[in-house]
Amino acid sequence: MLSGNVIKCRAAVAWEPTAPLMMEEIEVAPPQEGEIRIKVVATGVCHTDLYHLFEGKDKRGFPTVLGHEGAGVVESVGPGVTDFKPGDKVIPLFLSQCGECKFCKCPKTNLCDRNWSSKYHDIMSDPTTRFTCRDQPILQFMGTSTFSEYTVINQIAVAKIDDDAPLERVCLLGCGISTGYGAAVNTAGVTPGSVCAVFGLGAVGLAAVMGCKNAGASRIFAVDINEQKFEKAKVFGATDFLNPKAYNKPISEVLAEMTNGGVDFSLECVGNTEVMRTALESCVKGWGVSVLVGWTDVKDFSARPIQLISGKTWKGSLFGGFKSKDSVPNLVCDYMNGKIKLDEFITHKMSLEQVNDAINLMKTGQCIRCILNISK
Ligand code: NAD
Ligand code: ZN
Repeated sequence: MLSGNVIKCRAAVAWEPTAPLMMEEIEVAPPQEGEIRIKVVATGVCHTDLYHLFEGKDKRGFPTVLGHEGAGVVESVGPGVTDFKPGDKVIPLFLSQCGECKFCKCPKTNLCDRNWSSKYHDIMSDPTTRFTCRDQPILQFMGTSTFSEYTVINQIAVAKIDDDAPLERVCLLGCGISTGYGAAVNTAGVTPGSVCAVFGLGAVGLAAVMGCKNAGASRIFAVDINEQKFEKAKVFGATDFLNPKAYNKPISEVLAEMTNGGVDFSLECVGNTEVMRTALESCVKGWGVSVLVGWTDVKDFSARPIQLISGKTWKGSLFGGFKSKDSVPNLVCDYMNGKIKLDEFITHKMSLEQVNDAINLMKTGQCIRCILNISK
């Protein structure tokens, strides 16, 4: 079915950096060649939305509709779309998989050359958009914009999922949980019996803990400056809990003493360049692997070369290293078969109108994931 009509719907628009989002009526254009228009059912709020609003603050990335951790139902499809039909349950992907570029064809990476991030990582969206509000084009953050009742996405950035999947939970696989889980199992390649440390216990970090546990780690250190996060970390398999503020020496030294020289794998899930350095320094020499998962592009990081000369590996992970279109439907099945947890990440549920409250909960460290119910 091709529908040529413009849809007017409610969306939370971020007109400028740091200001609260405004509920607006926006116009959503019909899907063009290769595009899909989606009715968004539910979305999580991820720290990367906050990063764009409060930390990145690049004015060229505004006005925009944030949100990139959603799930919904296909409303209509543009010309040339054959793999999707109205009514299909889908998850929008902030990282596409075109299947044809040299990166998609290479098993070593999940990057896709056709993704917005390959050219416009600073504005965090492609300048082409299907949204207008008050006669102005509104950018589609990360190509997804799930803080809207409807969105239009290229088919290379949409995953079709199981008809029975509960959208208000599997939406979390659109970002945070796949990211943290994959960073541990794919990028770090956590091995059975290993000792791991996860820095930052938001949904991404907790999912990394879950990945370490599923990969067979024998000891998992959960590190956060907010001790309220420790109880949840236990649920996902953490065995030891450290608050860096409670020690008068660097936490890397504390970890080295507790582990006879450092951990085998560390994962930075905060988005702080100092913590990135600490996570590297917390690894054991010879074979320690440290993975950057936290998102930041505003500052350089530093480390002493001897950290790497001594045999450690420093790497980064986007969307957990998962090839997005192929992997997300499988992760949905993993959840439905009980192999991975999702419900335990959800601490709050709200409506789209309450999006600023949801953002504030994350800003003040009071939630793990708040799910916004966008439509029935
Ligand atoms: P969150 O805000 O829920 O969690 C961050 C956690 O870090 C909080 O528990 C906070 O208390 C803790 N923290 C803050 N400063 C700390 C410090 N100095 N030491 C230890 N812990 C500290 O965020 P989230 O949604 O879980 O996202 C985490 C990070 O992952 C963000 O930077 C986000 O942008 C990034 N991210 C990356 C990708 C990717 O593909 N690489 C995808 C999604 C999210
Ligand atoms: Zn995210």
